[in-house]
Amino acid sequence: MKDEDRKILTEFLGEKWHERIWRDEIGKPATLCSCGFDEGVLNLCVHLDAAANRTFDTWEDFGKLRDKIVEKEGWNWFVIFAIKEFQKEHPVLKSEEGGGWYRFEPEFLQWFVDEDRFPELVLEAIKEGVLKNPEAN
Ligand SMILES: [Zn+2]
Repeated sequence: MKDEDRKILTEFLGEKWHERIWRDEIGKPATLCSCGFDEGVLNLCVHLDAAANRTFDTWEDFGKLRDKIVEKEGWNWFVIFAIKEFQKEHPVLKSEEGGGWYRFEPEFLQWFVDEDRFPELVLEAIKEGVLKNPEAN
């Protein structure tokens, strides 16, 4: 997942994204973190440690996204969106033959409950307006 996408998901969670912003300070290179933390001259990059930003490939991040969607009362719309995405990849499942959708619920859940796919689905839902970012609410 690209940094710009991880930034969108981080801000969806209401958290700050950490990214170096260069600025000039009395002729020396200095940095400011995008979260507002002033790093001053170089070597004070505590906010830019690789661990500072969420990676969105862990079960912890999956859980954070899930909780935030529920908190924002977007769960039903999100699941409907996810089912449509699933059906794009599995067109045969649109058929009502052989028991219809419910027959494929286990397969959907296995696809849906995936620590890599879930953040991608949340990102797409945000981009398509199914889920709103905090600034939009
Ligand atoms: Zn920071």
